[in-house]
Amino acid sequence: MKYLLVLLVVAIGLWTLVSRLRGPDRGASGEAPRKSGAAKPVEMVQCAHCGLHLAATDAVAEGSRLYCSDAHRRLGPVSKPPA
Ligand SMILES: [Zn+2]
Repeated sequence: MKYLLVLLVVAIGLWTLVSRLRGPDRGASGEAPRKSGAAKPVEMVQCAHCGLHLAATDAVAEGSRLYCSDAHRRLGPVSKPPA
């Protein structure tokens, strides 16, 4: 009867060892590597016509001024904002 207990402890020890060798637990400590693209900061610029803030990559440039769209680029900059 004493050997049965020893066998049980050995069996549990082997089961734990095999489980660890097969790989880490799925779900509990599963950490997916984060994509580096999400952490990249986006430079914000202001449209010279309507004042809308948008990403610099989406802006339409003309000279030193930036616009939100091609239509606003054609309309040109507004000297004073609407009241
Ligand atoms: Zn605009």
